[in-house]
Amino acid sequence: MAERQATVRVNEAKRQAIESRDSHFLALEWFVNHDLSTFLKQYPDYAPFPETVLAARERMNWCREQLRKVWAGLDPAGIRLMILLGLKKSPDWKDRKGLIGGEFHSAEVKPEEVLLDPTFAVDACSWTEIVIEQEKNFEGQQFIIQENGEEEVGDPGVFDFGSFGPPEAKLMADWQTSGIRCEFKTNFQNAIYSLMQESWRAKICPICRKYFVAGKSAQAYCSHECYVERKNKASLDYFRKKGRAKRVARTKRKMG
Ligand SMILES: [Zn+2]
Repeated sequence: MAERQATVRVNEAKRQAIESRDSHFLALEWFVNHDLSTFLKQYPDYAPFPETVLAARERMNWCREQLRKVWAGLDPAGIRLMILLGLKKSPDWKDRKGLIGGEFHSAEVKPEEVLLDPTFAVDACSWTEIVIEQEKNFEGQQFIIQENGEEEVGDPGVFDFGSFGPPEAKLMADWQTSGIRCEFKTNFQNAIYSLMQESWRAKICPICRKYFVAGKSAQAYCSHECYVERKNKASLDYFRKKGRAKRVARTKRKMG
């Protein structure tokens, strides 16, 4: 009897795990496919940042661009994935002196990420633009900084590139289980981690370009409608190529 109860408990735990995984996947689908307001209305708990932080919308849109690239397999060095998961902070981006017309003009000022993946330059630059735009709001303002009881006028330092990405994940090493595990701060990051573990599910529909999470590995289209559309198009193509030739041959036979 005890064994039976244990099995019921295990099954229940499995069911709950699948349920939370599925809601993670749904939330991510909404995030990458819809505009930010629609997404936030539907899944406020999955916002990458609290809406109250400075430049929250710009940051979230930036994250969405990065997730789309990860989803599409356009993150060869895993940099975007690391940033989204909070496993990578990039203080090097602070150095904007090397930026000319959206490009880093010399190798020395190129952030490590850009050296690893040149396609990341564009994303590093768009991040930089968000920061520059925000800093404009603080131009000419003086900030009083209190340190050890003394007051002094200081740099607002509103934006620290190092803390601009989604919250940092906590790595935990466990001697007993010989494992290293990650603790994420947000649902958004937990959801990305779930999808990463089954990354084969992340697909883009070739018909409507929607980003979707596939139920089975053979599923190539986001919906039955897109599958039917593809099938109809395929038979139309077939008819155009082969069908016409056959008809011509048939007509020739009849006439002959
Ligand atoms: Zn589709």
